[in-house]
Amino acid sequence: MGGDELRFVKDAFESNYIAPLGPQVDAFEREFSEHVGIKHCLALSSGTAAMHLALRHLGVGPGDEVIASTLTFIGSVSPIIFQGATPVFIDADRSTWNMDTNLLAAELKICAAKGKLPRAVIPTDLYGQCANYDEIEEICDRYKIPIIIDAAESLGATYNNRSAGDTGRASIFSFNGNKIITTSGGGMLASNDKNLIDHARKLSQQAREPLPHYEHIEIGYNYRMSNILAAIGRGQLKVLMERTARKREIFDFYKSSLGDVPGIEFMPEAAYGKSSRWLTVILITPEKFGADKETVRVALEVENIESRPVWKPMHLQPVFYVENNHLTLKAKTNTRNTYHARVVGGGVSEDLFNRGLCLPSGTAMTEEDLNRVVNVITSFQR
Ligand SMILES: *Cc1c(COP(=O)(O)O)cnc(C)c1O
Repeated sequence: MGGDELRFVKDAFESNYIAPLGPQVDAFEREFSEHVGIKHCLALSSGTAAMHLALRHLGVGPGDEVIASTLTFIGSVSPIIFQGATPVFIDADRSTWNMDTNLLAAELKICAAKGKLPRAVIPTDLYGQCANYDEIEEICDRYKIPIIIDAAESLGATYNNRSAGDTGRASIFSFNGNKIITTSGGGMLASNDKNLIDHARKLSQQAREPLPHYEHIEIGYNYRMSNILAAIGRGQLKVLMERTARKREIFDFYKSSLGDVPGIEFMPEAAYGKSSRWLTVILITPEKFGADKETVRVALEVENIESRPVWKPMHLQPVFYVENNHLTLKAKTNTRNTYHARVVGGGVSEDLFNRGLCLPSGTAMTEEDLNRVVNVITSFQR
């Protein structure tokens, strides 16, 4: 926590708004909106809920396809399944680790020729780095396909001089405990489209019609953020810039300590923006380093240091049975608990998963903590 959170929480208690609405929620939405430069914001119970409401508003349903990054966290993708639609996963670009825009363009061309365009494109801003917004926008505009940015990991980053998430039809953010700022759990849907946010707001509170009695002409959800958690969010927002600067310092520390070690590479930063470096991620090439990423992870674990593999690509997740590039179905058959998906490419994200390791990147880490991590990794060289 940054320091001001408790003051706002105290305000919430004193106003007696212990509810999923109230002055702290209104203020958090307004302050967040000013911070990211996106006109309308809706505070919610999670980032996943925000993505779900965006897809619901767009009318995504059974029989539809929705394009997403394969190298992402499942929260980006599960709302496609909630809506009964089929995900189409696009591989990562090696120079940014984000959605490969050449593969996206090629896939949309094939879809257009078949007369079946996806209903939305969801690029993930991976590990604090924005996807290539301008290219994605240019490609999607050709077919008038809405873009929903998954900016859950990139709050604090920039694309050119815009804030992360400031593009497309809408974007989602997360305040889960592991994110750059947190409300313990929570999310935000942001858009310059007032209708989208108004409708999502209604859906987030059980789709109650504006009448004195309880009237429903559509089905909604209970997705609103509590006034108490919004108070925490207001305090957190004040330290976002500081946190981002610290995240970048942590990356620089690791880079200067490990950058020359044979077989270690760092996640590249794209020229179009400034990553928040939410997590510092390295690639370990066993032939050059002398050990694989799993061996390094276990060695860190022995020292009570937590590290994690890069996200396992969605097309490798057992919950999906995946059709490859419009071609063959894998030998697996559909069961009640697996879902049909397609993948375009996949080799790059598989390689990043096989070699990638997320290093401890908490902003409270001291130089001594960081050195402990570095020493375990360099011990393999001795
Ligand atoms: C954290 C995260 C989400 C989901 O956010 P929740 O608030 O945990 O629901 C979605 N996408 C990505 C890429 C994330 O990292």
